[in-house]
Amino acid sequence: MTKHYDVIVIGAGSMGMAAGYYLARQGVNVLLVDAFDPPHDQGSHYGETRIIRHAYGEGREYVPLALRSQVLWNELEKKTHHKIFMQSGAIGFGQKGNAPFIDEAIESAKEYNLNVERLNGAELKDRFPGLTVPDDYDAFYEPDSGFLFSENCIQAYRELAEFHGAELSMNDPVQTIEAYDHSVKVITKKGSFTGDKLILSAGSWNGKLASNVGLNLPLVPSRQPVAWFEANEALFNANAFPTFMVEVPNGHSRAIYYGFPSFGGCGVKVGRHEYIDAIDPDTMNRNFGSSENDEGHIREFLDRFMPEASGELKKGVICMYTRTPDDHFIIDKHPEHSHISIAAGFAGHGFKFASVVGEILSQLAISGETDHDISLFRINRPSLSMKAKN
Ligand SMILES: Cc1cc2nc3c(=O)[nH]c(=O)nc-3n(C[C@H](O)[C@H](O)[C@H](O)COP(=O)(O)OP(=O)(O)OC[C@H]3O[C@@H](n4cnc5c(N)ncnc54)[C@H](O)[C@@H]3O)c2cc1C
Repeated sequence: MTKHYDVIVIGAGSMGMAAGYYLARQGVNVLLVDAFDPPHDQGSHYGETRIIRHAYGEGREYVPLALRSQVLWNELEKKTHHKIFMQSGAIGFGQKGNAPFIDEAIESAKEYNLNVERLNGAELKDRFPGLTVPDDYDAFYEPDSGFLFSENCIQAYRELAEFHGAELSMNDPVQTIEAYDHSVKVITKKGSFTGDKLILSAGSWNGKLASNVGLNLPLVPSRQPVAWFEANEALFNANAFPTFMVEVPNGHSRAIYYGFPSFGGCGVKVGRHEYIDAIDPDTMNRNFGSSENDEGHIREFLDRFMPEASGELKKGVICMYTRTPDDHFIIDKHPEHSHISIAAGFAGHGFKFASVVGEILSQLAISGETDHDISLFRINRPSLSMKAKN
């Protein structure tokens, strides 16, 4: 017999698991379906940690959401035995006059009166002696930010969602979705379920699944290497060194590198924001090192800016971003089926918002509205040039 739910969440990863928790906590009868068994190493949340920063280079509109997320992460930390947040602080730096990402982060801090200190390259080196930064660089330091233990976050939401009565169907890929006027039917590998409402939050697979409900979303998944390196622990441990975002001139453009201090001897973790290498999530090469750039780009960055963190490669993994044409998320109701919500395109900076996105998705599912400003993430904004599928 097909079981019926108030809400079905397809994709119980970063965004979906949080949504499941906020729904179950309010007494909603919710089913979470996932192709794997989150947290896992197949999607976008793998690799232990994610930066949370409040001053925002991708656009100051994100600041209120980052602040609300932080409140919700702190709440989660109190409700679970899992470690959720490490307040290591966060820095950002780039060449003065040639670093729009850093400039926007600094402006966002001014606009929202964030606890952010402005430094030049020389002051930054004094504060964090592991850095080699030209004096003409511009920098900022946010003491209240740090990093999240992403897999713990999902595990904690999962346990709490189940505690509040959510049902889970794991290792159960969704094959088809049928949308009706006031309900949905979800057909999975293991069976079928019906629901009054649906949340589609399937990460890099959203593009494929959204076509089931008549949407042709311009989502591009990409392959993202990230690696851990042996470092001078005195200089780079999480009590002495913050997370970092660095904007580096790169030909006519700029490259952004990001990373984390070492904790428990894990080494310094570094990645490069890059949106080349569009892939199919079902066939992507998941072997770190299969391209020489996997380590090469990061190694060049470390040699130049953090030579004492450029030790032996300890570990490398491959993860996925999913990008939209204008680099902003999609968080909205389906234009023709208002009982379906979509959360997609979280690129390389979405995890920190998973808590507030979960809250937003729960509000959209329950009342059709949210008290957060999500106008930037509208599904029908012109910069997405979304075409409805015939
Ligand atoms: C290397 C790397 C570093 C990053 N660093 C940061 C950072 O420092 N700070 C930050 O804020 N963000 C960061 N991000 C971005 C962030 O991790 C992602 O934006 C976020 O995890 C996306 O969440 P999601 O819920 O969309 O995807 P996921 O967490 O991948 O969840 C999607 C879920 O959908 C499931 N699914 C897929 N297909 C189906 C199906 N057919 N049926 C059922 N379930 C299905 C998947 O199994 C998965 O569990 C980083 C990402 C990467 C890859």
